Amino acid sequence: MIADRIERVKESGTMKMKELAGQKRAEGKKIISFSVGEPDFDTPKNIVEAAKKALDEGKTRYLNAAGLPELREAIARTSKESNAIPCDASNVLIAPTKHAMFETIMATVNEGEEVIMPDPAWVSYEPATVLAGGRAIPVTTSAENEWRVLPEAVAELITPKTKMILLNSPSNPCGSIAKKEDVKGIADLAKDHDLVVLSDEVYEKIVFDGHKHYSIAAEPDMFDRTVTISGFSKTYAMTGWRLGWLVAPKPLFKAINKVQQHSITHCTTFAQYGGLAALVESQAPVEMMVKEFQERRDLVMKLIGEIPQLHCGAPKGAFYAFPKFDSSMNSEQMALYLMDNAEVAVTGGSAFGAAGEEHIRISYATNKENIATGLERVKKALE
Ligand code: GLU
Repeated sequence: MIADRIERVKESGTMKMKELAGQKRAEGKKIISFSVGEPDFDTPKNIVEAAKKALDEGKTRYLNAAGLPELREAIARTSKESNAIPCDASNVLIAPTKHAMFETIMATVNEGEEVIMPDPAWVSYEPATVLAGGRAIPVTTSAENEWRVLPEAVAELITPKTKMILLNSPSNPCGSIAKKEDVKGIADLAKDHDLVVLSDEVYEKIVFDGHKHYSIAAEPDMFDRTVTISGFSKTYAMTGWRLGWLVAPKPLFKAINKVQQHSITHCTTFAQYGGLAALVESQAPVEMMVKEFQERRDLVMKLIGEIPQLHCGAPKGAFYAFPKFDSSMNSEQMALYLMDNAEVAVTGGSAFGAAGEEHIRISYATNKENIATGLERVKKALE
């Protein structure tokens, strides 16, 4: 009954661990979850109120596929002001962030074409590429190079079949941030080899220690070949809203919009009013959450430092730590071992690619008490 293309992809490693943690909880286990990347904050009140108001006002009908015009305007404005992307509202498509990635790949990658992507990388880039008929080409990154995607490593992987370079900074699962020189070097490669760039910037606001986030679409002559993706889930604690966006030059926008028209039509109408409030009203909740993530990052680093079997450099952004562990177990076994013996859910590093083996991902988007108790349990289990 099942199509061959589905047999070629694995289940999502992050969603699998989240579901397993839920199952164990239902069995009565007191699981602390460091698995899925989901802020534990409630969506800020003003955003919820805006969506409620939209419902009360009957904003329950179809929109154009690209989304609410006011929201497209607001996204174009912040993309220009915060990230120097030379766009206007006609370049903006509102889509759930993961779907924005999926439909961009669907709209650009032909059968047999190659997409260069980081390894380790978020679990869904490779399956999306494979489902589109393309090949995922991993560019190996390492803790020694702060898990950055180096232009010279990308250059070695470019072939006549390369169609796209996929970037993700700040990164999931490593919390790395691309330096300006990395972004420039990769932009030069994309221009020299006539490649599309997909830049997933969903963690753009969650950066620590004064590090800067750079959008590759802002580099000279890059806008015309770049699709920039971002969203509300992580920045505004809106994971369940399924709301994000992409910014693309006209020909790419048109192609992606076709996929949107034939798949989800558009994002939920009243949810888009919540998104509008998120962008145009006070950013104080974002500042509060980012400050809290940084404090949690510091706590996680301190506690990991007290566990002799774990080794980890400080993440610069997002809300993941990606420590290496000392053990003869592989990373999937380690994740299951910690679930059973520490009642802590983490994601095994191999879910993010071969270079993630011997690592686990710890999502610290949970409160400090859970972090302290969970890592104490991990310490005991590893002893
Ligand atoms: N992006 C989050 C994570 O990596 C949410 C789950 C998912 O979509 O994979 O945990």
